[in-house]
Amino acid sequence: MADVLRKERFILPEGVIYLDGNSLGPMPVDVPARVSGVMNEEWAQMLIRGWNKAGWMAMPSDVGNAVGRLIGAPEGSVVMGDTLSIKVYQALASAVKMRPDRRVILSDTGNFPSDLYIAEGLVGLLEQGYALKTVEPEAVAEAIDDTIAVVMLTEVDYRTGRKHEMKPMTELAHAAGAVVVWDLAHSAGALPVDLAGSNCEFAVGCTYKYLNGGPGAPGFIYVRPDLADAAEPALSGWLGHRAPFDFDLNYTPGRGIERMRVGTPPILQMAALQEAMKVWEGVDMQDVRAASIALQEQFIEEVERDVPQLTLASPRDSAKRGSQVSFRFEQGYAAMQALIDRGVIGDFRAPDIMRFGFTPLYLDAGDVSAAVAVIRDVMVNKLWDDEAYKVRNRVT
Ligand SMILES: *Cc1c(COP(=O)(O)O)cnc(C)c1O
Repeated sequence: MADVLRKERFILPEGVIYLDGNSLGPMPVDVPARVSGVMNEEWAQMLIRGWNKAGWMAMPSDVGNAVGRLIGAPEGSVVMGDTLSIKVYQALASAVKMRPDRRVILSDTGNFPSDLYIAEGLVGLLEQGYALKTVEPEAVAEAIDDTIAVVMLTEVDYRTGRKHEMKPMTELAHAAGAVVVWDLAHSAGALPVDLAGSNCEFAVGCTYKYLNGGPGAPGFIYVRPDLADAAEPALSGWLGHRAPFDFDLNYTPGRGIERMRVGTPPILQMAALQEAMKVWEGVDMQDVRAASIALQEQFIEEVERDVPQLTLASPRDSAKRGSQVSFRFEQGYAAMQALIDRGVIGDFRAPDIMRFGFTPLYLDAGDVSAAVAVIRDVMVNKLWDDEAYKVRNRVT
């Protein structure tokens, strides 16, 4: 196994053990200079000429290819833009259009609420008997039948880290004639993904989690290449038009994945992400996976040994988990605030989940042991039992 540790590529504040890279990745060292370069040398000096001269207009596809390489997507099948929620809408709306004789979108209760809300909104807009059906994650396979137009799932559960099996689930859905949309929010940069091999029609994801693109970094969308010239983009914005600068009064979708672009790309964010993607050069996702599992196993073992107050909420079998470990604790919110106060940063997901992300590019076994020592101190000495830790922040 090749070493994937490259802490020196990231800014990690003194005294912090960062176990929340599954929510917002840390800043790669080279990002500020790149963004500053884009501001001072491109925006300031080139002005409008930057769109051509600095290649701004091509960035959504260029960065899409860099992301695509990490998730097993062929060149030219991924494009960046907007946020993940918007990309979920586009993928879902396009997918529904591919099965006009069916009316049900199937998802699960472990999906991230935004994906479900977007589906709800789409179903409300379509009317005509469309419905969103959600079942328990373990019951998805048996709920797939010939009424299902689209199966929309997130590979890794944001709360527990429980992982769906992409390829067999996609095969099952296809056998029933459904179209499949995978959300890779907690997969891209976390574990190996073989999008082409899974044969799914659509995939979407975000880049501020394991890909370290920065807060609000653009989302991505993948369309299986054989369908990309047929998919209806749903959000038919001018930059997805075949010839935006013809300024036609009618919409003609662009070629291939380009049609999934909507409006003007956020160049500063795109530059930050493009620079952040360089951290992955020479990294094999199989090595990242092996290192992540080793850290997670160590964490579970040490927490269960030293901190009996916490109950494992994630699957015990590492093959069934993504790259995070969650524990249940009734006062989990306060406990997490106490940890954060002591430099161990994870997060909390209602009602009682304490979530810890494992990112072997900048975490090692020593960090895991040091984090567990702090967790033990907070839990054994009830340091969380402080009114100040019980006041809920806007972001948990
Ligand atoms: C993080 C996450 C989101 C967030 O969507 P944004 O539009 O980027 O805010 C959506 N879906 C899933 C599955 C997520 O994990």
